[in-house]
Amino acid sequence: SFCRLAQKNGMYIIVRPGPYVCAEWEMGGLPWWLLKKKDIRLRESDPYFMERVEIFEQKVAEQLAPLTIQNGGPIIMVQVENEYGSYGEDKKYVGQIRDVLRKYWYTNGRGPALFQCDWASNFEKNGLEDLIWTMNFGTGANIDAQFKRLGELRPDAPKMCSEFWSGWFDKWGARHETRPAKDMVAGIDEMLSKGISFSLYMTHGGTSFGHWAGANSPGFAPDVTSYDYDAPINEYGQVTPKFWELRKMMEKYNDGKRMPAVPKAPMPLVSFPKVTLTQAKTMRQLATRQVKSRDVKTFEEMDMGWGSVFYTTTLPEISQPSLLTLNDAHDYAQIFINSEYIGKIDRVRNEKTLMLPAVKAGSQLTILVEAMGRINFGRAIKDFKGITRNVTISTQAGGHELIYDLKDWTIDLMPDETDTILSRLKLPHNDIALATDVKNGSRYPGAYVGTFNLRKVGDTFINMENFGKGQVYVNGHALGRFWRIGPQQTLYCPGAWLKKGKNEIVVLDVVGTDNPTLWGQDRPELDKLQLEKSNKHNNIGDKPDLNSMTPVFAGALKDGNGWQTVRFDKSARGRYLAIEITSNQDGKDVSAVAELYLQNTDGQRISREPWTTKYADSESDMGNHTGDKVFDLQESTYWQTIPGSGFPHLLVIDLGSQQTVSALDYLPRAEQGAPGSIKNVRVFMY
Ligand code: CA
Repeated sequence: SFCRLAQKNGMYIIVRPGPYVCAEWEMGGLPWWLLKKKDIRLRESDPYFMERVEIFEQKVAEQLAPLTIQNGGPIIMVQVENEYGSYGEDKKYVGQIRDVLRKYWYTNGRGPALFQCDWASNFEKNGLEDLIWTMNFGTGANIDAQFKRLGELRPDAPKMCSEFWSGWFDKWGARHETRPAKDMVAGIDEMLSKGISFSLYMTHGGTSFGHWAGANSPGFAPDVTSYDYDAPINEYGQVTPKFWELRKMMEKYNDGKRMPAVPKAPMPLVSFPKVTLTQAKTMRQLATRQVKSRDVKTFEEMDMGWGSVFYTTTLPEISQPSLLTLNDAHDYAQIFINSEYIGKIDRVRNEKTLMLPAVKAGSQLTILVEAMGRINFGRAIKDFKGITRNVTISTQAGGHELIYDLKDWTIDLMPDETDTILSRLKLPHNDIALATDVKNGSRYPGAYVGTFNLRKVGDTFINMENFGKGQVYVNGHALGRFWRIGPQQTLYCPGAWLKKGKNEIVVLDVVGTDNPTLWGQDRPELDKLQLEKSNKHNNIGDKPDLNSMTPVFAGALKDGNGWQTVRFDKSARGRYLAIEITSNQDGKDVSAVAELYLQNTDGQRISREPWTTKYADSESDMGNHTGDKVFDLQESTYWQTIPGSGFPHLLVIDLGSQQTVSALDYLPRAEQGAPGSIKNVRVFMY
């Protein structure tokens, strides 16, 4: 229907059927149940993976292949895999995906153009000779530089930016992302003037409703529910100032014809006043199943895709405070002893441990683990949920360390499936369970219910800032995740799901609230952080004393765009990498770094999975430019200092463990002239 609608409106279609599609979508579009086969190799020539891929691609083609341009439809191109160069180097596998697509999309050798999309820095790794190669890059990129290598390899090939990033996605706990309209329009204008094709990613922002928002890595950076993306047409289908600037520029390429009228938004924006919800069920009352197991199990081992799980076991007597370690908790774990809240272990903050008080024998340890979206980018997409290995408690006794590997778990499962949750709510109340379930003071995790009245139906934004963390359902539709920390505080509720009069709302809050109130407002709030701790890395106690150290490199870097390698005087060992910047190429004081890698003594890049930012002297608030942007796998994001903060600038990265390294790979910003690129540096390992 969508393809036919596009054709009716004079548009062509590019189909990008993956199987991996990224899109900041849970597991990049791959289904979680693949992980029930624990040793599966995703996005590789694994026989089971390829068997499922072929079934999927056959079903997609059954519906869409009749709509190719060869068959009178609007589909002109079909993409083979997606940004595979950011995942690995495996032409055999990419070739297998191409062959599957050809098998189901082509008839008698005729079919749509097949292409690959990648980045200018990595497209050669998997580029197949018989496919079209396109580049992905974002607003502000140096366009000639992006196509330079392609032009050398294939001078006569058409040039296309398959994803021109109009904005960027948001993650929980960081500032809302925007990109300037002027720069986006200038990039598109330049491509149009040079005959370069492009596909705008995104033209129209959207919403990762329900539990479909994914997460990024290294580390764990779950994406918010809104996928507004600062796109020209926003999340709720209305045109923005960015749209008008783009349209004004595009008029000059419209052969003097008048631009068509912009359709009116189909829905008005409406609000509703504050309503108070009541708690209907505790978390445990929402459980649908119980599993008994000697060891902890992942969600996938228990055949559950999404939701929350209680892991409960009985403790021995531990007469003094002890250290609880979760190996690992995916993703947000709250720890209770005899139902009272002790603390949390949050994967987003790279937390693994928590101090427990002394406990009497027979005390109940309960760990409530809520899963967020599975990682959608990089090797970490194999992202099991729940507790993935084991739980230990360590304590000192008689001068030596005692470690308990906790066993014999009772596991209660609360799947996040809208129908299941709503049907659990209809079961009769059990006040005894409410009184004995886990709590944090007077805050009970669980389901809160209520109604709101609308005199007029329209799109609205439900403000969740008084609740803790969880999911919202309106009239049986899952709106998505909320989390008090922000930056997103409102959830988009399409008017199509609302009705005049009474509307039912259910809030599943895994943390609980003292103030179960919410309201509907007529505009979104996407940029309000309510962090317990700052997300900046300028704690002075974390700053190393460089005076006592010898640098492994001291000198000037090269100017210009693209990767460069800085070889150390000799190989160096340490847990921390410190880069001190004393000048910039442009002579100004705002420094920026897009990506960094370290090479081991064999010249291989070491894994950045365990990396965290230890210290950054300055991190710009003009956008989202914290220190962790130098190892987020994204070439278009960067650490940037605050104007006027002054040299020297210092960035310290914790590599997670001692490493022996011999060189540093550095990427400046991707824009023309590499703004903020650094010149004189000293590099330390300690
Ligand atoms: Ca980056």
